[in-house]
Amino acid sequence: MHPGSVQDASPDGYPASKPDFMPPAELRALQSSRLRKIVERAYQKVPLHRCRMDELGITPETIRGIDDIARLPFTCKSDLRDTYPFGMFASPLGEVVRLHASSGTTGKPIVVAYTQADLQVWANVMLRALVGYGLHAGDIVQNAYGYGLFTGGLGIHYGAEALGATVIPISGGNTERQIMLMRDFGVSAICCTPSYFLHILDCAEEMGIDLRTLPLRVGCFGAEPWTDAMRRRIESAAAIRAFDIYGLTEITGPGVGAECCCQNGLHIFEDHFYPEIIDPQSLEPLPEGGEGELVLTTLSKQAMPMIRYRTRDITSLVAEPCACGRTIRRIRRISRRSDDMLIVRGVNVFPSQIETAILAVEGTLPHYQIRLTRHKDLDQIEVCVEVTREMFGDRVGTLENLRSQLAARIERVIGVRAAVRLVEPHSLERSQSKAQRVVDQRGA
Ligand SMILES: [Zn+2]
Repeated sequence: MHPGSVQDASPDGYPASKPDFMPPAELRALQSSRLRKIVERAYQKVPLHRCRMDELGITPETIRGIDDIARLPFTCKSDLRDTYPFGMFASPLGEVVRLHASSGTTGKPIVVAYTQADLQVWANVMLRALVGYGLHAGDIVQNAYGYGLFTGGLGIHYGAEALGATVIPISGGNTERQIMLMRDFGVSAICCTPSYFLHILDCAEEMGIDLRTLPLRVGCFGAEPWTDAMRRRIESAAAIRAFDIYGLTEITGPGVGAECCCQNGLHIFEDHFYPEIIDPQSLEPLPEGGEGELVLTTLSKQAMPMIRYRTRDITSLVAEPCACGRTIRRIRRISRRSDDMLIVRGVNVFPSQIETAILAVEGTLPHYQIRLTRHKDLDQIEVCVEVTREMFGDRVGTLENLRSQLAARIERVIGVRAAVRLVEPHSLERSQSKAQRVVDQRGA
């Protein structure tokens, strides 16, 4: 894609990115008019939305603009399960051109629908995400996200094509082939989960290929939480810039938000997805900058509008303008989901806290697993960490020193004593998609 005419061009040269640089007042006016339309559509076409609004005594006319959004009722994941499969659709199947589904851990999956226009919006926001990473036509994008019902593969695929990049739709798995193509095709960007990229790094090392010597320069990583400590490990091991991407099936898939070259929060494509932060207990909107649960409203989705969808992701909105020049707001990286929280001996523990503690210590590898058991009615937490081969080759004292250093650091961050077990490289199971960082064997 080439920069458009002068009046179409956005500061980064892509007409599609223009909304990213819109003056805030103009953006708000756009959000207001889109919200009015989507609320009307949801009310007219989806019984669940109509019932909820009726219960609150509001009609679409009540919502005059974006400032009224907090008057609307919430929706949540169980609403999608309860209306399985098509109960949340606002378009007849004749207008639905794509279905995706996310596998629930229990029971039925949640199903989402897209019209042709919805798919165009999705490709547009993904394109804008990739532009933010510094990618353009001529880049070779290896898409190792799974293709299928999961939104990761196709979401990134169409965005990268819309950008004019060359897409390799390799999907997940067959890691040796991934590395061979990465080298032979001169791949400049890879898209996958951060844990799968760690596996690629391991595998490349075994094959005697140093990723730092390849043209690869950008990683687009998401679909699982990862920390800045992990980012630093990945960036130095592969000599790339590793960027976060945010999205969820219920809203559209990847491309709800993305980091820019500043790597300091994720811009939300808020001309299509309106963000709010609420207190997850009181459900009241929090003042600007407050940390709480992210709630998203789709402002343009036709087949399945989501009104104030509770994401369970914990973050905050960044008020300051970004150095990149984009005016759309940012959220801080999501390192915690209310669903991920472990309660260990009554204390709230997040896996990301443990990850940060582990990776702060030299000699560790970015492969770990948190195991929870119960002994005599008391929760036990064990953290298995892979450490470098040199550590094992060294004297026993070195290893013991590392172990106690890690144990102390973890206890300091989570406030609970954890047993630390150091294991050799490659002894923990590797993941082709999302890593299983937590094994909870405490039973019911
Ligand atoms: Zn920015």
